[in-house]
Amino acid sequence: MNIPGIDFLLSVLFAYFSNTHIILMKNNYYILLLVSALAAFSSCSPKGPYALTNKVYKHQTDSVVKVIEQAQPATLVDSAGAAVPSEWVGTVNFNLRKPNYVIIHFTAQDSIRQTLKTFTLVRPQVSAHYVVAKDGKVFHMLNDYLRAWHAGISKWGSISDMNSCSIGIEIDNNGNEPFTEIQVKSLLALLTQLKKVYNIPPANFIGHQDIAPLRKPDPGPFFPWKLLAQKGFGYWSDELLELPPDNFDYTTALKLIGYDTSNLPAAITAFKRHFVQTDDTPTMTQLDLNILYNVYRKYAP
Ligand SMILES: [Zn+2]
Repeated sequence: MNIPGIDFLLSVLFAYFSNTHIILMKNNYYILLLVSALAAFSSCSPKGPYALTNKVYKHQTDSVVKVIEQAQPATLVDSAGAAVPSEWVGTVNFNLRKPNYVIIHFTAQDSIRQTLKTFTLVRPQVSAHYVVAKDGKVFHMLNDYLRAWHAGISKWGSISDMNSCSIGIEIDNNGNEPFTEIQVKSLLALLTQLKKVYNIPPANFIGHQDIAPLRKPDPGPFFPWKLLAQKGFGYWSDELLELPPDNFDYTTALKLIGYDTSNLPAAITAFKRHFVQTDDTPTMTQLDLNILYNVYRKYAP
């Protein structure tokens, strides 16, 4: 068992034993306690299959609060290794940092239950703020102000820690099928709320493929980016496209949109999976260039 596994087990045990059952714990009650613990683990529990992991969530948010409450000055040393004097004086003017990006994913899993299970196990080390089921139900799994682990190693423009500035939305989809109509409807409702609450600009609704072109194909060519752009989430090319000027440098254009072009073929494929969708070969046709030029002027006017 790895260290995160041990952490999880300890968290689960702590979560369970810290509730009121502990008050009743005497030798004679061990068997009763074990039986009720097993019941809590099972999906037949009256509190539901996620009662236990919801307790772990609560304990982890408590530990986050403890970190925020720390009132200690930064420990600083100068280039010679000598301590720089520092003192804590708390300001009275602050609030929480807000997410400024929305990253859209497909789950690449076979069911919503499988995804909920993945995100409530420690070992996979992945999570998202929201998961949108095929029937339109939206599962909210993490407070928007906290950092989910959905982006992984990724880059967009000069941002190298997308998890710290974004909301992650996973859509239940195996990667080879269209998204359901009601799923997209729910997604639009969710995006509308996020955009309004956090004042997220249209350009900052992007896909996992955009920020991790070498590693990730989601949300893929079935994703309705055109419809999203019409509603103000992300951009899409205009119907009428003009030819780019002769000196148009498509690598720079991709970079200015935000793509990591250190592997150019991967960046081109990611761009085409998002903005062309009918073809994702790593070469730029004249149509691809026209689309890129049009889109680039929306991202970098
Ligand atoms: Zn993803």
